[in-house]
Amino acid sequence: MTSPVTPYPLDAPASEQLLGRARQVIPGGVNSPVRAFRSVGGTPRFMERAHGPWLWDADGRRYVDLVCSWGPMILGHAHPDVLAAVTQAAGEGFSFGTPTAREVALAEEIVSRVEPVEQVRLVNSGTEATMSALRLARGFTGRSVVVKFAGCYHGHVDALLAQAGSGVATFALPDSAGVPQSAAGETVVLPYNDVPALEQLFAERGDQIAAVITEAAPGNMGVVPPEPGFTDALRRVTLEHDALLISDEVMTGFRCSRAGWFGLEGMPQGGAPDLFTFGKVMGGGFPTAAFGGRAEVMAMLAPEGPVYQAGTLSGNPVASAAGLATLQACTDQTYRRLDQVSQALAGAVTESFTRHGIPHRIQWAGSMFSVFFREGAVRSYTDAQAQDQERFARFFHAMLRRGVHLPPSCYEAWFVSAAHGDEAVEVAIAAIEDSAAEVA
Ligand SMILES: *Cc1c(COP(=O)(O)O)cnc(C)c1O
Repeated sequence: MTSPVTPYPLDAPASEQLLGRARQVIPGGVNSPVRAFRSVGGTPRFMERAHGPWLWDADGRRYVDLVCSWGPMILGHAHPDVLAAVTQAAGEGFSFGTPTAREVALAEEIVSRVEPVEQVRLVNSGTEATMSALRLARGFTGRSVVVKFAGCYHGHVDALLAQAGSGVATFALPDSAGVPQSAAGETVVLPYNDVPALEQLFAERGDQIAAVITEAAPGNMGVVPPEPGFTDALRRVTLEHDALLISDEVMTGFRCSRAGWFGLEGMPQGGAPDLFTFGKVMGGGFPTAAFGGRAEVMAMLAPEGPVYQAGTLSGNPVASAAGLATLQACTDQTYRRLDQVSQALAGAVTESFTRHGIPHRIQWAGSMFSVFFREGAVRSYTDAQAQDQERFARFFHAMLRRGVHLPPSCYEAWFVSAAHGDEAVEVAIAAIEDSAAEVA
């Protein structure tokens, strides 16, 4: 079965030294809060290089990467096709501030994969995509109220930071300082998977609501897929009140299937969401993202329409080349391998946690899964928060010392890639067994 792994030492001298330097010049030493290990304690590992499923840190230690840059590295690191595309694009110049063929090809690839998306606008991050989609929805409807769900994270947009998951969940901040009441006051937060709450809100304020935004299948409070009929209810209620439905596929897009969560769940009764947002996988590790949908709605965007939206580096040729090469390499075989790897890892968790008496619950959205340190179905953010975070922190470090880098938060999916071969899977499975024994 599994062989014991010799753990790395407890300290990580090179990363500790780099963190000291980083803290002098970068708040908390990191450029995105969840990287700081606050919820698990200890020193974040500074990575030096990566290849396939492997990361190497500044102390020269190797890890199986189960973060995959929080989703983008679906093909593994430094995939040869993507590397070749990026190298070629970079050799032809980095950014022109003019339209280019590469961004057209990336837009065509997205439109060809997600049937209801007729047009896209490329932006630089998932945050920009959701922020712009909201502005567009407000411009299209002439209304201002936005509805989101507790535990859904849509980037660090002012209006969407109320009861968000991801890093905000990890830090247990109900909100962020610096978000004015006027911005958050136009946002209504509802419990996820709760159709009566949705119907009641629309009965009271339906004529003020510009849009409902939801994660297509939430992954930022751990994986909490929509219950059967929930997406249909979102579509029905928004149509009844002339509000738009925005499906945030920044995490699930091109990961759950070649057409994201939409491709798995299929067309909601009543029709497709009006707008979609994408990021992560579609940039292949480079900063590019998109929002798109029905041409009639997208026509409201400048320069065609009155809703302003822009970006100096939007549609950047190097990032577009990386995204296009990544999507082109995401074939049926890629998705089959993601399924196999996820099932092998989740199966090992079930077996080892059961053997060692650790309460757990695994939930799925396609091949995307997360492990909750609790028993029983997780339907909402309230459910997700009721887990043993302290045990997760110990498990995280037990895994890290055995050369497996999990996301440093119990509110995140475990991301795998198609490059996770047999050796990486075996190392991870052995580490899961030994770590479960350690934290039992
Ligand atoms: C990651 C994420 C975002 C934000 O994307 P950034 O590129 O980090 O700004 C938005 N929505 C969802 C669902 C995400 O997972």
